[in-house]
Amino acid sequence: MQEALQILKTHWQHHSFRYPQAEIIASVLQGNDTFALLPTGGGKSVCFQVPALMQEGLCLVISPLVALMDDQVKNLKQKGIKAVSLTGAMSFEDISNELDNCKFGGYKFLYLSPERLQNEWITDRIKALPINLIAIDEAHCVSQWGHDFRPAYLKISNLKTHFPKIPFIALTASATLQVQEDIINLLSLRSPAVFKKSFARENIAYMVFECEDKLGRLAQILTKNSGPAIVYVRNRKACNDVSRQLTSMGFGATHYHGGLKQREKKANMEAWISEKLPVMVATNAFGMGIDKPNVKTVTHIQLPENLESYYQEAGRAGRNGAKSFATVLLHHTDIAMAKSQFLDGLPDKTFLAQVYKKLNAFLQIAYGEGTEQAYPFNFTDFCKKYSFPSVTAFNALQFLDRQGVLTLSQEFTEKAYVQFMISSREVIRYNSLNPTDEAAILVLLRTYTGIFDNETAINSNSVATKAKITTDKLVEILNRLHAYGAISLRMTGNDSTIVFNEIREDDRTINRISKFLEQQNNLKKMRFERVISYITDNQKCKSRILLEYFDETDSKDCGICSYCITQKKAKDNSPDVTVEIVQLLSRNPLTSQEIQYALGLSSEQTVMALQLLLNAGKISINTNNEYTLVL
Ligand SMILES: [Zn+2]
Repeated sequence: MQEALQILKTHWQHHSFRYPQAEIIASVLQGNDTFALLPTGGGKSVCFQVPALMQEGLCLVISPLVALMDDQVKNLKQKGIKAVSLTGAMSFEDISNELDNCKFGGYKFLYLSPERLQNEWITDRIKALPINLIAIDEAHCVSQWGHDFRPAYLKISNLKTHFPKIPFIALTASATLQVQEDIINLLSLRSPAVFKKSFARENIAYMVFECEDKLGRLAQILTKNSGPAIVYVRNRKACNDVSRQLTSMGFGATHYHGGLKQREKKANMEAWISEKLPVMVATNAFGMGIDKPNVKTVTHIQLPENLESYYQEAGRAGRNGAKSFATVLLHHTDIAMAKSQFLDGLPDKTFLAQVYKKLNAFLQIAYGEGTEQAYPFNFTDFCKKYSFPSVTAFNALQFLDRQGVLTLSQEFTEKAYVQFMISSREVIRYNSLNPTDEAAILVLLRTYTGIFDNETAINSNSVATKAKITTDKLVEILNRLHAYGAISLRMTGNDSTIVFNEIREDDRTINRISKFLEQQNNLKKMRFERVISYITDNQKCKSRILLEYFDETDSKDCGICSYCITQKKAKDNSPDVTVEIVQLLSRNPLTSQEIQYALGLSSEQTVMALQLLLNAGKISINTNNEYTLVL
């Protein structure tokens, strides 16, 4: 293990492994199949990257998350380690070249999505590679009982036949007992060594507060616990609004969502990391690869979607071990509203078929075509054009994504329409004057043969990749060509990209996948119910509720969550305050602020006492956001 530690020091600048990384690495090095159940932030990637680096050959990493793979490959490259991911819209030729590199180019890591393994020619090529370890990330995707079931994961076990002597390591941050069994059986792991780390986070105080003025309460939280903060909201509009409101209240706030341009994302992220703007208001698109240890508060001002993602998002607080807070703010109308939105938003088979068909029409894909190309996609336009309700349409697209029919990535792309206005002789002259632009121009001319005659929609991402430049750089070159008068140029923005993993087959596709639809919908309902019970169960420690969700049943009361604290306070002195409040409310209903002023309490005292009374069912909140006695 001395060598493993040396690698950790050299490439990660860490001086010791965190439990149970060393144990997992030892198991892999002994050639065992290994199953690692580690919470997010538990350092999963080290568990396969270190042993892979200690041996000849390369490690095959299978993951469903394109952004995560790209992020890991980027990090490995920064460490000077050769790695490649076969993600996005790559041509047959590109993939083939990369696979050659893996065979002869000293590469240590090959990342790919499980859908790639469905291509026989790719698996044939992989069989010829000097594989030393097969890592399956997000391994719960193999189980129908997991929330992210992806049928393509079921094919991974075929690799066991081709590589009978190569150890498998399956990793996941969330697996119930049933899913754990599925992972071991369906991936054909052979008497695997199983490692688990508790999901308990002792330094995080989980809080749930009902309040009538969420923004005011949020401001209190941020003022009282100064330091880097994340505020999670459900959609992009709320993201912009809340960030603006906080700024106008004097907080240093910025925002992040999938619809921002790459450079905005980068700038906002940097402002937050450097703590120039310490409050980040974000949708769940924010999170990948963030490793900021000193986040003091994570506040959800809308209900989280499920407890896995809640745990993950809340867990970004207090990575440095310092006491920190994960709070859900709740308005009394939230639950009823979320329920109706949620239940209305689950697509049935007819709706799914419609979305699939219209999507093909929208992107102009003919029957039997559509693969291996990235289509810029504007979700809002799509819904508007066919009058689809957006939540249901999004769920339908997400289901198509999970089933491997397509890959939907939420990132901003610019679609450009280009026509060359000068002759090919003049293009050659331009190239000789501007040699830095030549590669991009040649790719354009080679890819789009009619580009001299018609305005042509070009795929900026794919042109940029082929020309080995960034998309930003390509846009710069196009603008230069336009200013020179060489091309006509029209740009439109798109907030997502779709890649089809299989050809268009209408009913055949839908019939094949719709058998999983009902089950996945039921699972979603069940998971949503668990969120509701986390929020509303006033008789149990919040940390315990979370841990029980992950099948950890032996945990104790945490002592610091909103339940535990109200219990403590109830024992101490608050009866007086609650009695006073009841007397006050017996005259007329009041808001919490009015109560606070009338009784000369601190806001904390007021909130605690109100929470106690709410829990006890003695008061409720009326439609004017006032507290009234329950008679
Ligand atoms: Zn507790």
